[in-house]
Amino acid sequence: MGIFEDVLLNARSAVDAVGKTAGKVIDSSKLRLAAADLKSEISHKYQILGRVVYEESAKGKDFSKNKTELIEKITELKTQLDSVNDLIAKASNKKKCSSCGAYNAKNAQFCSKCGERLADEEDESVLTDDMKDFTEDNFEDDDLF
Ligand SMILES: [Zn+2]
Repeated sequence: MGIFEDVLLNARSAVDAVGKTAGKVIDSSKLRLAAADLKSEISHKYQILGRVVYEESAKGKDFSKNKTELIEKITELKTQLDSVNDLIAKASNKKKCSSCGAYNAKNAQFCSKCGERLADEEDESVLTDDMKDFTEDNFEDDDLF
């Protein structure tokens, strides 16, 4: 037992939160909570990854298997975070650029970042009143990993 076991165990709550949210009426507070969980989980794993690299260099141990696992886990978490951010973007009336991934205003015709033509949004029926508190202030690209 050590620093690696908890790495693999901790992510479940965030994943469950996302799973229960997707497909239903979107609950904005749960989405934000899930995104925050995922971000802190990713940060935590980056820290452990750094520690693993340090232990390797300082003590000459071979942690290559642990590194591989950590990197795979981080990639998985980032994919989940992308999904959550997509849902948040939808809830905040933003369109995601299919080319560069930037979020644009709902009525934008072209991506403000790369100039790609943006597809029209399909379905807005899932949006509820409590999602109107989503603003550009609490959803910035800088928040994304
Ligand atoms: Zn773009």
